[in-house]
Amino acid sequence: MGRIMVVGAGFSGAVIGRTLAEAGWHVNIVDARDHVAGNCHTRRDPETGVMVHVYGPHIFHTDDAEVWDFVNRFGTFLPFRNQVKTTLRGNVFSLPVNLHTINQFYGRAMRPDEARAFIETQADISITEPQTFEDQALRFVGRDLYDAFFKGYTQKQWGCPPADLPASILKRLPLRFNYDDNYFAHRFQGMPEHGYTAVVERVLDHPNMSVSLGTRFARSDAKDFDHVFYSGPLDGWFDYDLGRLGYRTLDFESFRYDGDWQGCAVMNYPEVEVPFTRITEHKHFAPWEAHSGSILYREFSRECGPDDIPYYPIRQVRERALLGDYARKATAERGVTFVGRLGTYRYLDMDVTIREALDCARRFLGDPSRMPAFAVPPL
Ligand code: FAD
Ligand code: UDP
Repeated sequence: MGRIMVVGAGFSGAVIGRTLAEAGWHVNIVDARDHVAGNCHTRRDPETGVMVHVYGPHIFHTDDAEVWDFVNRFGTFLPFRNQVKTTLRGNVFSLPVNLHTINQFYGRAMRPDEARAFIETQADISITEPQTFEDQALRFVGRDLYDAFFKGYTQKQWGCPPADLPASILKRLPLRFNYDDNYFAHRFQGMPEHGYTAVVERVLDHPNMSVSLGTRFARSDAKDFDHVFYSGPLDGWFDYDLGRLGYRTLDFESFRYDGDWQGCAVMNYPEVEVPFTRITEHKHFAPWEAHSGSILYREFSRECGPDDIPYYPIRQVRERALLGDYARKATAERGVTFVGRLGTYRYLDMDVTIREALDCARRFLGDPSRMPAFAVPPL
C-alpha cells in the first residue's frame, strides 16, 4: 500500500482519511491551522462557557440518510431548528419568507391561498426564466419584499448589485405560504451536542491515521507521497501563478452580554445603512445548555485579500474563466485529487462535503491508479 497524504483536517479531509484508514491504508493528515474541523471549528468561550462557531454559524441539515448516519457515528446530534429573524426599520420579521412574514409586512391576515394569489399579483410574471438573483426575486416575491429583505442584504454580502449575481444563490432559500419558519427544508437537522470539533476529532481518531497541525503543505511536498487528497485552495496549489480566484471574506466583531441579547441564534439586518449582515448569538445553538452570559458575533462581509480567510467563492464570469484555466492545470497533475469547498472552488454545505468525500474515497479504493484530479468537476 502506498503513502497517502490528506491536506486539510476539515470535513473533506477527515472523511476521506477515515474511509481510507478503515480500508487498511495508512493516512497522514496535515492542517495549517492549530485545530481540526476547518471552518466548522467550534470552541468554548472561556468567559461565558458558550460553544462558539468560530468561523460563523453552522447548522447541520441534510436529506442524505447515509451522511446523517455517518455523522451520528461520531457524535450525538440534538434536534435543532434554525429559526432566523430579520430586523427591518425597527421591526422584526420571520425568515425564510413565509406566511407570517407576508402578513406582517403587508399588515394583513391572509390565508395560504390568498397569500399565494396576492404574491402572484406582486410578482413580475414577464420574467419567464430568471437568470440573475434580482430576476429570481422579482419573479417569485415581487419588488416590495425583494427591496425589503434581499436587495440590501445581498449587496452587503456579495459587494455587488444582485442583478450581477446568479439566480442559484437565492434558490437556496425557500418561499412558504404557511407558518413553517424552519430555515431549511431537510429531513434531518441537528446540532452536535459537544460542537463540530469534537465530532471531527472522533472521525480522525483511528490507529491508521496520524494528524499534524500547524503544518502547511506545498505542491513540492507531494513527491514524498503516492497520492495526495488536497482540500486547500485550488489556486494556492499552483502558487496563484495565474492570479487569484475571488472570494468574499468575513470579519466577526465579537461582543459579550450578561443575559439574552437577541432571543434567537441568528438575526439578519437587510438594510444597507447597517454595515453588518447578521448577528449570531452562539448560546442559542445549544438550547440544552444554560449560560447566564452570552457571546455574539456581528458579521461583516468584504472582498478577500491575500492574507484573509477565503469564505464564499464568487464564481462570476471572470472567476469562472480563471477556474477553467486552473482546472486544466490540475487535470495535468499526477497523483493529486482536489476536493472540498476550496479545492473545487464551490459553495458546499457540510452534508454535500461529506457525501463527496465518501464517494471520492470509495472511488480511490475501487482503483487507486485511476484517480482523477477532480472526483467532482469544479465547473
Ligand atoms: P474547510 O472546512 O475550509 O477545511 C479546509 C482545511 O484545509 C482548513 O482547515 C485549512 O486550514 C486547511 N488547509 C488549506 N490549505 C492548506 C495547506 N496548504 N496546508 C495545510 N492545510 C491547509 N454548511 C452547512 O452545512 N450548514 C451551515 O449552516 C453552514 N454555514 C456556513 C457559514 C459560513 C459563514 C460559511 C463560510 C460556510 C458555511 N457552511 C455551512 C459550509 C461549511 O463551512 C463547509 O461545508 C465545510 O467547511 C467544508 O469543509 P472542507 O473540509 O471542504 O473545507
Ligand atoms: N439573503 C438575503 N437576505 C437574507 C438572507 C439571505 O438577501 O436575509 C440572500 C443572500 O444573498 C445570501 C443568499 O440569500 O447570500 C443565501 O442565503 P443563506 O442564508 O443561505 O446564506 P449563507 O448562510 O450561506 O450566508
